Amino acid sequence: MKYRLYAFFFLLCILSSCGTEKSQDPIAETRFALGTTCTITVFRKADAHHIQEAFDAVHRVESLMSVNLDDSEISVLNDHAGRDPLQFSDDTFFLLSKAKEYAQLSGGAFDPTVGPLVSLWGIGSDEARLPERSEILDALALIDYHNLVLNSEHRTAELLKKGMAVDLGAIAKGYAADAAAQVLKDDEVPYAIINFGGNVFAMGQRYGDGPWKIGIQDPDAERGNYIAIARVEDSAVVTSGKYERFFIQDGVRYHHILSTVDGYPIENGIASVTVVARDSTLADAFSTMLFALGPEKGLRLARETPFLQAVFVMEDKSVLTSSDPDGWLTIEDSRYHFVQDSEVTE
Ligand code: ADP
Ligand code: MG
Repeated sequence: MKYRLYAFFFLLCILSSCGTEKSQDPIAETRFALGTTCTITVFRKADAHHIQEAFDAVHRVESLMSVNLDDSEISVLNDHAGRDPLQFSDDTFFLLSKAKEYAQLSGGAFDPTVGPLVSLWGIGSDEARLPERSEILDALALIDYHNLVLNSEHRTAELLKKGMAVDLGAIAKGYAADAAAQVLKDDEVPYAIINFGGNVFAMGQRYGDGPWKIGIQDPDAERGNYIAIARVEDSAVVTSGKYERFFIQDGVRYHHILSTVDGYPIENGIASVTVVARDSTLADAFSTMLFALGPEKGLRLARETPFLQAVFVMEDKSVLTSSDPDGWLTIEDSRYHFVQDSEVTE
């Protein structure tokens, strides 16, 4: 988890090294929430007191949806698997519905019922280990988003099989960032940076004038080292990378984005996927989903999705984008280079 602590420095780097001049001093607060270091930064003294309220929204999302809290709504849903439907808050029901929608869109590559597999591997916890194949097969038998049954009229959700478990780890940080941004917007904060462990929302324009410059993390280096810079306004910039959470056993690295087909960490040549979109919930889900789909299907889906841009950083140091990078994305590290997707092989 140590590398998570670099999130704060990552943010500082966004603001210092990537900016041209520092016209206003950042006022930042960092807290640990949703399993990561969360930093909210505003730039006008008058906006500072709104940070607290934005964090209240983040903690609310955490208290409803974290699988690490026994009394969260998601934990209650999981404990109740195989029994009757339960009613949930608007927020939890909304995110369950979104997660199921993205599962359908990706044919289950992204699947919120991945919980039993996530617990089995324990990646990111002290109990991370390489499971037996039989254990993986048992967990896989429980994963199927069709068996997460939602009723929007009554706001109920139900897991049809005992042992099933929802895990919203691939989408909840994005939702929390949207919630924090909404609070700041409602409070008329014109610009801010919300950074939840590399899940960035760059709100408004940089100091009210022109695009923010957000670094895309070097997958092989400590946080704060970038290979590219994205120029964005009022957008989420969310990355799913193999480097985010992993453990090493017998010289093999096992990371935290898991295949719902074979039950192992996905190895498809992708080092990270960054998604830029107005909506951080969508960007978070898509970053995981496009990673899971692989470069070919992932690029196709990204191109079919309006108002979304995706950057695939491959392990061979090629960089693929869903739209022409001209004007919004520059590579800053000469070891990396853009390629056309006709050159992609899976
Ligand atoms: P991070 O949490 O590092 O920002 P992601 O947003 O990509 O990264 O989410 C990864 C998390 O999503 C995992 O830690 C796990 O909780 C969950 N997850 C893993 N594999 C899948 C999958 N195939 N579909 C949905 N969620 C997944
Ligand atoms: Mg995600």
